[in-house]
Amino acid sequence: MIDIKRKLDFSARKVALATFWVETFGCQMNKSRSEHLAYLLGEEGFSLAQRIDEADILVFNTCAVREHAAERAINVISKVARERKEKNPHSIVVVCGCLGQLEKEKLLGKGKEIDVLAGTHNWEEIPLLIKKAWQERVKIADFKEEPPLLYQERGYWHSSFISAYLPITFGCNNFCSYCVVPYTTGRERSKPLEIIKEELMSLVEKGFREVTLLGQNVNSYGRDRGRERGFEELLLDIEEWLEGKKIWIRFLTSHPRDLREGIVEIVKNSSLLCPYFHLPLQAGSDKILQLMRRGYTREDYLNKINFIRQSIPEARIGTDIIVGFPEETDSDFQETLEVVKQAQFDVAYTYVYSPRPGTAAYLLKDDVPEEAKKERLHILNDTLRSIYQKKLSSLLGKVVEVLIDQKEKGLVSGRTANNLRVYLQESFGEVGEWKEVVLASGEGNKIYGSAKR
Ligand code: SF4
Repeated sequence: MIDIKRKLDFSARKVALATFWVETFGCQMNKSRSEHLAYLLGEEGFSLAQRIDEADILVFNTCAVREHAAERAINVISKVARERKEKNPHSIVVVCGCLGQLEKEKLLGKGKEIDVLAGTHNWEEIPLLIKKAWQERVKIADFKEEPPLLYQERGYWHSSFISAYLPITFGCNNFCSYCVVPYTTGRERSKPLEIIKEELMSLVEKGFREVTLLGQNVNSYGRDRGRERGFEELLLDIEEWLEGKKIWIRFLTSHPRDLREGIVEIVKNSSLLCPYFHLPLQAGSDKILQLMRRGYTREDYLNKINFIRQSIPEARIGTDIIVGFPEETDSDFQETLEVVKQAQFDVAYTYVYSPRPGTAAYLLKDDVPEEAKKERLHILNDTLRSIYQKKLSSLLGKVVEVLIDQKEKGLVSGRTANNLRVYLQESFGEVGEWKEVVLASGEGNKIYGSAKR
């Protein structure tokens, strides 16, 4: 632990007077961790600020998955922190999460404005570190090299009263060659069933309309507890616990290798499990998939997609794709495009490869020129756009059920069970209501609904 005494004396400051704001970078898992941290800060007597620029304590919960994004995040944090300190010299800047864990040296060197620096493995202790920094005006950097055996959240400060996250596994055992997650969050650990039940039932009691089960590799739930088909068992248990209730259950992220037919069958026969599958493809060439250590071939992947499409025709499928991985030739990229056309994705997040220190792929030569990477990304996004547009037009006229969860600029919007966002006139309904609507028109990648006649 690094603990540098500052000259200022603020020991008389009361914690109760301090407000905080948590700014989150990255995935849903990180958003959920921020909700947990906000809860823990509340328990310590801090209160949530109305706006980021009013907060005494500014927490950045960071993400380290992509090198470019990580560099940008470090620069943004330094800039915002500097401005904040100029405006309010008493404020505290906290950096935690994956970037804190992985890039501590860089952050310690760069971030003169950072008061508390922590990683991913000492989450529960962060509020106490902040309290100490706030009351004693000390700078603190504190890390643990090993993750706790189990993350058991004491609670969450929910950022929505409609949708809640429920993490069921932490960490990952896959060690895909480009990914830092197994290094930042450790090996996979599944939350015990009885804790999931307790947390889920409490969310139901609080009136949440949908719950998303989270895990880096959600389908392998229970494997660390010796249960090969633990995720299927969990889904069946959830069906039983929630029998007769109107609630939607989603899950993220499914590793294509571990999305078994049994899981698709359970979703097909369920009225509460949502038919949306997020299955990161990453690349469509077997050579690149092998270099990425993804554990499946292009054929395996397409077979799973076909199985989903045949079993649940209304299911929507999302993916993540990386272009410009080391050794990716034009013909490898063409294979990715072919898979994209065959899979007809409904949602896709696309990225340009950037090497991450500490990963296996970092040792490979990053040999695809930046121009070629950009060009491939452009072609890929164009291809996806034309797929989305065709798909959206084929949906017009269909009647769907939407759970309204947002209100902005004279419109409300909500998602269907299969994860399609639909925009509606504000008078259509209130946030938290389920409504049946007709998909009436599309504009770009937005789709608008109207009243059912
Ligand atoms: S499955 Fe691969 S990409 Fe996903 S978190 Fe695990 S190591 Fe990273």
